[in-house]
Amino acid sequence: MLAFAASRAARGPRKRGLFRMANKDDRLPDNAAGKWFVDSSCIDCDVCRTTAPNNFKANEDEGYSFVSKQPENPEETSQCEEAKASCPVEAIGDDGA
Ligand code: SF4
Repeated sequence: MLAFAASRAARGPRKRGLFRMANKDDRLPDNAAGKWFVDSSCIDCDVCRTTAPNNFKANEDEGYSFVSKQPENPEETSQCEEAKASCPVEAIGDDGA
């Protein structure tokens, strides 16, 4: 737990609010290269991993999700778009390329 708290603190304060967008300059290092990414505001709620299981995975040690694989077909793209729309803290972006 201490390691998680220290890691979270190192990533800086979370930004939440109606006008927040995922910040590509704050993308987590685990993300697969490409336009889809998760930034450090992720709260590890599991929504994206459930919605787009082919493309999102958990970093269980650090307590966040990341894009494990960029979408490669229309179905995966649709699932990623749904995950982005459903993320409660708008931590998912698709403008990272
Ligand atoms: S839906 Fe958002 S907050 Fe939840 S695990 Fe995925 S990126 Fe993190």
